[in-house]
Amino acid sequence: MFVSENLGVNEKGNLTIGGTDTVELAGQYGTPLYVMDEQAVRKACRRFKSSIDKYYDGKGLACYASKAFTCLEMCRIVADEGMGLDAVSIGELYTAVKAGFDVTKIGFHGNNKTDEELEYAVDVKVGHIIVDNISELLRLERIAEEKGVRPDIMFRIKPGIDAHTHDFIKTGQIDSKFGFALETGEAFEAVKRAIECKNVNLMGLHCHIGSQIFDIEPFEEAGRVMLKFIAKIKNELGYEIKGLNLGGGFGIKYLNEHDPVPFETYMEKVSEVVKSTCSELGITQPYIFIEPGRSISAPAGITLYTVGARKEIPEIRTYISVDGGMADSPRYILYKSEYEAIVANKATEERTERVTIAGKCCESGDLIGENMPLQHAESGDIIAVCATGAYNYSMSSNYNRLQKPAVVFVNNGESRIAVKRETLDDIIRNDI
Ligand SMILES: *Cc1c(COP(=O)(O)O)cnc(C)c1O
Repeated sequence: MFVSENLGVNEKGNLTIGGTDTVELAGQYGTPLYVMDEQAVRKACRRFKSSIDKYYDGKGLACYASKAFTCLEMCRIVADEGMGLDAVSIGELYTAVKAGFDVTKIGFHGNNKTDEELEYAVDVKVGHIIVDNISELLRLERIAEEKGVRPDIMFRIKPGIDAHTHDFIKTGQIDSKFGFALETGEAFEAVKRAIECKNVNLMGLHCHIGSQIFDIEPFEEAGRVMLKFIAKIKNELGYEIKGLNLGGGFGIKYLNEHDPVPFETYMEKVSEVVKSTCSELGITQPYIFIEPGRSISAPAGITLYTVGARKEIPEIRTYISVDGGMADSPRYILYKSEYEAIVANKATEERTERVTIAGKCCESGDLIGENMPLQHAESGDIIAVCATGAYNYSMSSNYNRLQKPAVVFVNNGESRIAVKRETLDDIIRNDI
């Protein structure tokens, strides 16, 4: 009935998430409110882990791409599920370290890491650093030499795959700011150089072809391309690349008509391709990493708002304004992302209207969505926007000096605050 499996309706006719009444959550914690379902997060982690066990003999690690949604509590939950983690900045890394995450399972990403970030990553001994470009390689080599260490690194490679997704979230093709290009020979030259570096250990190659991808073929193709490159390195340089990171980007269901491939099928197909390609090429099967972000946190989350004004413009559209907007839900203004919305206190009613849900920020484009099917919404109703657990809180801002909402975790009918709502004093905290 609803887009995410963890949503339901209780005897009061209210929307529930993980069995918890969303209208009560709105009353208890206020709105806007991010709600994350702990069991949904755990279940997604387990599905990735168990499919690696089943289809790739456990020789791999699923690393949660923490940029999708992170805070101390999220790190603790993901760690408890035995996952690895990706961090793309010192802030994400610091969060994971402070949460007690096993640093050996952390991969440190970023296309323009600063020296401060590289030094921090080396100091806390992250599992590996995914190097994006030559200047970074040379800076890391120097830092590692100064500190007398030899960090494991991977190279981020652009495999030249065109995944069918939005231009802004497509990263594997040659015209991308991320990584070394294969086609031009840039990647091969970089590998040669890394092998000569005494203070770094090139242990793997990485690729990430984009986000919200529904097909399996681009992932399979990326796997083949990367393995061929690994074989070339072995044959021409006599060097064995032991790890292969196939990235993330698994599509999720934002609308009922979306039909993502189950992760199990993805892992089954990609494992088959990796195994058969390795035997064709005569190379050892690499240890595999995958980096799901959105697919772990998005379906686990919803955002709750309170309806303020209802504005009907005859023959044009009806605006339903809510008490948040692009500051807490920036994906619409960034790339016209679509969501399902439900009037949480009228969850059993039919969605009889099509409305534009607008935020309260001073931008005409500040919408949660247009032409959204919705129950008849009036001032004071609670609206739940579904599958918002990824790239909402993590991309939120204080635009218009709005206070960032709280994040609440629900778990089997109980709720707890994971991130407090910002106060007005937080808004001026760094002002002098
Ligand atoms: C963003 C990102 C991911 C996660 O992408 P999702 O679409 O959230 O699964 C994984 N790896 C890298 C390198 C990324 O930049």
